[in-house]
Amino acid sequence: MGGICMSLKLKPGVVHGAAYRDLVDHCKETGYALPAVNITGTNTLNAVLEAARTAQSDVIVQMSNGGAAFFAGQGHPDKSRAMVLGAASAARHVHMLAADMGVCVILHTDHANRKLVPWVDAMIDIGQDHYSQFGGPLFSSHMIDLSEEPLDSNLSECARVLERLAPLDMSIEIELGVTGGEEDGVGSDDDIADNPKLYTQPEDVLLAYDRLNAIGPFSIAASFGNVHGVYSPGNVRLRPEILKASQDLVAETHDLGRNPLDLVFHGGSGSDLEDIRAAISYGVFKMNIDTDTQFAFAQGIGDYVQGHAAAFRSQLDPATGQPLKKQYDPRVWLREGEMSMRDRVVQACRDLGSIGKSVAA
Ligand SMILES: [Zn+2]
Repeated sequence: MGGICMSLKLKPGVVHGAAYRDLVDHCKETGYALPAVNITGTNTLNAVLEAARTAQSDVIVQMSNGGAAFFAGQGHPDKSRAMVLGAASAARHVHMLAADMGVCVILHTDHANRKLVPWVDAMIDIGQDHYSQFGGPLFSSHMIDLSEEPLDSNLSECARVLERLAPLDMSIEIELGVTGGEEDGVGSDDDIADNPKLYTQPEDVLLAYDRLNAIGPFSIAASFGNVHGVYSPGNVRLRPEILKASQDLVAETHDLGRNPLDLVFHGGSGSDLEDIRAAISYGVFKMNIDTDTQFAFAQGIGDYVQGHAAAFRSQLDPATGQPLKKQYDPRVWLREGEMSMRDRVVQACRDLGSIGKSVAA
């Protein structure tokens, strides 16, 4: 990492390759992180881009396999094809619009366990076509989560996938240690307090570094007590200093500078500001946020529907006979969801210190 990063300027739009790595370094050197927001359709996607423009923050647009399938349409006859085509369609939507929004956007996919590795391979196939057509990849990075498997099989598979990604100027995100939460089978509040499985071991992180660093760029979602979803206060004990131990071990072993690893914070919804700031100081550049932005989208629409209930039951006002078209037009109530989600993403930018930090020229 050099001093050039402080004044980094990149072309607005989707970033990948060297520009992606420069942006990640810029986050770590200047002490902020980017929100990685899960999207499920054009409304949530546009809300994220609007938030980034509003906050003058770069942003990470992310989709899960389920979100990607939903993007393709629930009526699509083939779910596994829908996951691939929906992801590609959402990515192309971002490529089309991101530059106009005047910010840099990292395009990412979310958790892919062993069953979903074929989904990632199929997206890489499309990425290869995109690369030969446009000279760049469709996505900036994919994510593989084999944290439930033994470390060696986790790292072997991630190495195989990274060997496919690196020639496309793409990065991989891997996961070490189990993040708690419904998605991971560490479900109830009782399972969460002081569960050693929730804390990634620095020795495992060093092995990952040694295995992947020669192949291509990678980031690591390490567990430091974080959970997916929102739990009752007091049951989540975050220990961001776990991240520092991993950074220090890799730096000492390989004689590198401070925070050599690019770290990712999973399960960011509902986290304390203090824990977020500590995690950033230990090299976290990306924080996933889904639960809170889903709720924000729903809340915006819910409030509107409650306040205009008649328009969702009849086309004419039962009292006055006047048409209610201006209230049930999908653009009106979907927009309420977008604005509420936009505001929540801007709040995330504030929490992560990314407001006004966009490196877009
Ligand atoms: Zn995770």
